[in-house]
Amino acid sequence: ISTALPRRCWAEIDLAALERNLHLIRAALPAHMRYVAVVKADAYGHGLPHIAARLMHAGADLFAVANISEAAILRELGPGWPILLLSPLLPNEDRYLAEYDLAATVSTEEEVDRFNRVGLDAQRPISVHLKIDTGMGRLGVWHEHAAALHARISAASHLRLDGVFTHFASPDEDAAFTTEQRRRFLAALERCRGLRLSEIFVHADNSAGIESLPDASPFNAVRIGLLQFGVLPRPGALLPQVRAEPVFSFHTRVGLTKTLPRGSTVSYGRTRTLERDSRIAILCAGYGDGISRAVSNRASVLIHGQRCPVLGRVTMDQTIVDITDAPPIASGDEAVIIGRQGHDEVSLVEFSHWADTIPWETLCSITKRVPRFYR
Ligand code: PLP
Repeated sequence: ISTALPRRCWAEIDLAALERNLHLIRAALPAHMRYVAVVKADAYGHGLPHIAARLMHAGADLFAVANISEAAILRELGPGWPILLLSPLLPNEDRYLAEYDLAATVSTEEEVDRFNRVGLDAQRPISVHLKIDTGMGRLGVWHEHAAALHARISAASHLRLDGVFTHFASPDEDAAFTTEQRRRFLAALERCRGLRLSEIFVHADNSAGIESLPDASPFNAVRIGLLQFGVLPRPGALLPQVRAEPVFSFHTRVGLTKTLPRGSTVSYGRTRTLERDSRIAILCAGYGDGISRAVSNRASVLIHGQRCPVLGRVTMDQTIVDITDAPPIASGDEAVIIGRQGHDEVSLVEFSHWADTIPWETLCSITKRVPRFYR
């Protein structure tokens, strides 16, 4: 970790843990499973270049990103890295498929025709993954119509089908519907004439999905986002052997400490009245850094390994915590917002619960103001 910058609020990214997580996930899966690393949204806020480079080093087979800007960053880093675009392309972005050598997700006939034209113009085939909507109700051709779209892709002169996939709507909440989505997907694939599944990526499972991945099935790839960052999509055991370690932690420092008398109120809106004479610490981070305002009066941070509750509303640049019961604390001391300190840990899941959100959103909410340090 670089010590060049004074740190008021920062994130630490443990690349060695990321690599260990990938190996753990791989080891828990059948050996032939390929690993699609989902690194959209700046690799879930961890920083795309560092994360992608380490995942490639650790043996990822394919990167999945959301848009052309993310794909362009990856392409610059790794001229030969395979990249799949998960989101639809805008028509004026089509040409980048050839320019950056990207695989596109195909859901509609219109896309088949557009991407084939790109291939014709570039005089080489464009790689596509056919997406089948089995109940997510977002991207993909509805599963009952997949065979027709597959036939159109097969007939296109300048498309190469490199994958087929679907996405689960509630793999962490509804096992029965996930099973039904698998059934719809496999039935749709059976109706696609001439489809040689062993030669292409066949993928459905995200982090929560792999828990129910059937032993014998044509699935030969997984699409992993959250779990590689050491966060379980739901509490409890996922795959018991995947003891993934957190990659991300979030830190700040105490700006100053002071005392306030019983009966005084803290922060905007005066939502908290002190019930005793209190010592408080003003932390150098607020919602401008990604501490959701929703954790006002709910979260605790760790200072010297002790939980210190947030008092009143989180503000843009500062958060106020109660240190009355903590050991002596001084300006400059470190406070851990998410992560481990001493014998305690505030997990990303716990923090997200305070923020009434999901860990995916918390990670994406850490703002640009927060420098990421890699180790
Ligand atoms: N596949 C698709 C299409 C996604 O949108 C996502 C994440 O949003 C993933 C895979 C990865 O999901 P997770 O982070 O739960 O592993």
